[in-house]
Amino acid sequence: MSPLDTTYLGIPGYVIFWVLTIIAFGLFTYRISRLIRYMFLGRKEKGFGKLLRRGLSTAITTLGQWCQLKGITLKDKAGIGHAILAWGFSVFVVFYVAFIVIGAGFGLSENLEHSSFFFYYTWIMDIVIPFVILAALWAIVRRYIIKPPRLKGEQTLEAMVILITVLLHPLTHLFKIATGIALNHPPAGLGATLPPLSSALSNLFSNVSPDSIQAAHNAFFWTHWLVILFVLVFITYSRYLHMVASLFNIFFRSPLPKGTLRSINLETVEVFGSAGITDFTWKQILDLYSCVVCGQCQDACPATTSGKPLNPKTLIQDLKQNLLETAPGLLKNGGNGSAKTLPGDVITQDTIWACTTCRACDEVCPLYVEHVDKIIDLRRNLVMEQAAIPETAEQALRCIEDRGHPWRGTTASRTDWAEGLEIKTIGEDSSIEFLFWVGCTGALEERSIRISRSLAGVLKQAGVNFGILGAEESCCGEPARRLGNEYLFQMQAEKNIKTLNNYGVKKIVTACPHCFNTIKNEYPEFGGEFEVIHHTQLIAELLRENRLEIKAGGGVITYHDPCYLGRYNDIYKPPRQILNSIPGTELVEMAEKKRRSFCCGGGGGRMWLEENIGSRISELRIDQAVETKAQTVATACPFCLQMFDDAIKARGCEASIKAMDIAELVTEAIEAHIQPNPRCPSPAAPPSA
Ligand code: SF4
Ligand code: SF4
Repeated sequence: MSPLDTTYLGIPGYVIFWVLTIIAFGLFTYRISRLIRYMFLGRKEKGFGKLLRRGLSTAITTLGQWCQLKGITLKDKAGIGHAILAWGFSVFVVFYVAFIVIGAGFGLSENLEHSSFFFYYTWIMDIVIPFVILAALWAIVRRYIIKPPRLKGEQTLEAMVILITVLLHPLTHLFKIATGIALNHPPAGLGATLPPLSSALSNLFSNVSPDSIQAAHNAFFWTHWLVILFVLVFITYSRYLHMVASLFNIFFRSPLPKGTLRSINLETVEVFGSAGITDFTWKQILDLYSCVVCGQCQDACPATTSGKPLNPKTLIQDLKQNLLETAPGLLKNGGNGSAKTLPGDVITQDTIWACTTCRACDEVCPLYVEHVDKIIDLRRNLVMEQAAIPETAEQALRCIEDRGHPWRGTTASRTDWAEGLEIKTIGEDSSIEFLFWVGCTGALEERSIRISRSLAGVLKQAGVNFGILGAEESCCGEPARRLGNEYLFQMQAEKNIKTLNNYGVKKIVTACPHCFNTIKNEYPEFGGEFEVIHHTQLIAELLRENRLEIKAGGGVITYHDPCYLGRYNDIYKPPRQILNSIPGTELVEMAEKKRRSFCCGGGGGRMWLEENIGSRISELRIDQAVETKAQTVATACPFCLQMFDDAIKARGCEASIKAMDIAELVTEAIEAHIQPNPRCPSPAAPPSA
């Protein structure tokens, strides 16, 4: 007999079932509609096309659990457990709808439970359930016994309730089916073998009276359904919310290249950046609902690791908390009302300025929550509304405004670096194929000038037809944008785009990943459409075409992936191809590499900020390089190079390791400077003159 055919305290089972179900769905709908209304207190968002493509990618990411599987490493395999739980849950949902709501709820159990669909589905559930139980037990052991650093402090009541319900789902289902079998109501499909686990469990009831088995069957049914209804409501009040929110969060992912910031319409905007929670867009608020507090971003963040007050997980949770506290009042007052000022009151200034914009957090987040855009919106408010900016950063911005570059102390001109190299400017010869965008650092900072000179030499050796803008080049605006001065960024962008378009520039090569990312990914919105290539890509191509004569060089080298080249633009192979093509080179990798590379600490305008809280990020990275026993840490970014030079001096390891740009290493290889390499056979030295 179906548990719903029974009467409880005089009330028919059907009535209880539907009353409870309608109450739970009502509470779910009410709360979700509130959350949606909170979300749309946020600013408008633009740019959502290609719905079919978005749908497909969401399905692959969520149903395929790519969101979890992409983050699996040798050290951290928790994503496998989550994927199993998610797949198991997807199987359960079909069962709930088909056999509980439609079958039991509408009195169709007799018909449905004698179908072969029910038989086979019970079999599938029997196979899936042990995996789900194991994954849930593993999650409990990890969280409460192993306690990995990213789950520190996460042994909360909420987490416990979630894990208990995750265990109760499959267990109550199994016993519900097992007691059904014991009652002689097996899943009847084609008379084939019974589902193994449920039928084995049914033996536990072999000596129990039919009435007691029926009572147990009813109890398991009701417990199972109550757990499901409880979870339905609990979803909307807990981190379970990610199950719903993340589907939409992934569907509405930004269509722009990774890490591209939202621009501000300077003429119409009322508040610069985010003063309150409703100054974020609705998509940014949806991010807050999607966070499952897994801590992967916290693990990856160099600011957290080095002891700064910024923790990307806490940042998202603090913003969510602020939303849930302020939104009800704002809704009551038609969206108007006073909310706490986020930068300063809710998120401290030290937290906001600690970010290097390295995107390690965004890259590892399984639910595609974006952190960097929110931090920059908070900076925009600090800088453009509150005029609250650290002095050194302010000086750099003023220097960009006054002199077109952020390097305050320099007396050099834009073209001094090229002295004696006979490099033409585009004004002298507009027929050049590549414009070499030197960048402020490459042109004016003493150490980085060597990169520019090396690259120019390499291009000349390969016969590349290139030129420079010379005195007409101005800061690309990247430091201003990352430091929160969108106005200055847009001014610089428009000025540069005008100059480049006037000369009809089509192809640009640069050695600076920050200029590269800005011109390639952020200038198109302002009318600058250029083919931009990083020097590592061009050198790798020249080597493939045998246009460079590499004689000797090498040594033991480890390569550091600059964030704006790797995580922002997925350029990982060309630098490694170049290093591997230098004879006598042994490339050794650091533990954190490619998309999981550890930042140098210089991005996000941090080049112009003091680092006086916690340890220095660059020194932590140099420690990792030293661990590889490499003689050289190679990189492909002038900021990284400066940070590493300083870190090597600070750590006192100049004798064992040096930092070099790939262009410099290629130059050495062309000029046949041989590095003594104890670990790999050196090629013969070229005959001396
Ligand atoms: S961008 Fe980098 S520094 Fe900033 S919060 Fe994310 S991981 Fe931390
Ligand atoms: S933001 Fe993403 S990575 Fe960070 S805790 Fe939330 S879900 Fe995990």
